[in-house]
Amino acid sequence: MQAEIIAIGSELLLGTTVDTNSAYLARQLARAGVELVRKSSVGDDTERIATMVSEALARADLVICTGGLGPTLDDVTREGVALAMERPLEFHQTLLDQIEARFTAMGRTMSPSNRRQAYVPTGARIVENPRGTAPAFIVEDDRGTVIVLPGVPYEMRYLFENAVMPYLRDERGITDAILVKTIHATGLGESVIGEMIADLMAQTNPSVGISAKQARYEIRITAHGASQAEAEAMLATTEATIRERLKQHVIGDEPLPATVARLLKEQQLTLALYETSTLAPIFRALSAVNGGTECISGVLIHPLDRAANEDAAAILSQTGAFGIVDRWRADLGLAFQVADTSDQSGLTAVSVTLVTPKGNRQVTRNYDLRQTEGWEFVATLGLDLIRRYLVGEAA
Ligand code: AMP
Ligand code: MG
Repeated sequence: MQAEIIAIGSELLLGTTVDTNSAYLARQLARAGVELVRKSSVGDDTERIATMVSEALARADLVICTGGLGPTLDDVTREGVALAMERPLEFHQTLLDQIEARFTAMGRTMSPSNRRQAYVPTGARIVENPRGTAPAFIVEDDRGTVIVLPGVPYEMRYLFENAVMPYLRDERGITDAILVKTIHATGLGESVIGEMIADLMAQTNPSVGISAKQARYEIRITAHGASQAEAEAMLATTEATIRERLKQHVIGDEPLPATVARLLKEQQLTLALYETSTLAPIFRALSAVNGGTECISGVLIHPLDRAANEDAAAILSQTGAFGIVDRWRADLGLAFQVADTSDQSGLTAVSVTLVTPKGNRQVTRNYDLRQTEGWEFVATLGLDLIRRYLVGEAA
């Protein structure tokens, strides 16, 4: 089954409301094994909604709309869907009674405009909405099924879980599962990783994709199985292959900073940092993690400290690391030092030293530090140096 989502509301097109409903629906459909082929947004306009729904039905079997079911005249999803399905709106007294009862229960009087919410396209299946006034509905024709849900996120989620999922499972026989697993990796170039798993990336199920950010890679495996167990087994096999090929470059299920913070905590080790940029990239990366600062015993930020050349940078990063370990009596000390000699290409040599109770480790790499992102690469390098030590990898 192929599905499309249409988020309806002019506020979405103006950017004043972020379309979180589509993201939620996309995750739910993925979990249910329904393949989502397109997401789109449209303003509150009857004709445009009708066109969007018709176009979506021409491509997909299932179209889920969210938004535009309110009582005010600007909410015209009912009209748009009725037009697309060629099913005129029909008034339901029972719906109006329910809406009125809801108002009474809240100690309020229903306004005349709520009457609009008692209309649904002829022949539609009504989905009662105990969380709000706008009832949802499902319309089927020979092109496919259109499910229309309110825009208020908690109502939409409630109806999806309690009405749409049971409908898909019990009446459309959906038992498939699509599972997604992300593996984090670092220490290799994106193209190198890409080549190592090129065959996996070429296959469609499980499908494998990579996204890269500052030399940290997220390898996403998506498996579509006839059951949850089948999808899980497919994921596990592909994950094992990836781990086997990337070896020590695989960080695990968590991103790099979270992994380092967790390992430090588990091993009850403290870390001191010496950073030569006010951006303090390593401190910043660790403090963005829950509990990430707990193991940091001190940070020395010395932005004016510059080494004359690469060799000097190496010596100074080592001295810096020893200095902070001493100063804070930390178990580990990480320092980086920048050589003040950027070449034609704008690359600057950065030396990173990690001092540990079992000796020190040092790496020098070239980065473009004219842009803030350059410092993120330094953070990746430093954090991975710590991670490799903590997992017991030989220097
Ligand atoms: P509506 O059903 O169009 O009257 O929407 C009611 C409210 O739900 C709007 O004022 C928005 O705050 C919110 N809303 C509507 N559509 C979305 C969406 N796609 N994602 C998140 N919030 C939404
Ligand atoms: Mg609206």
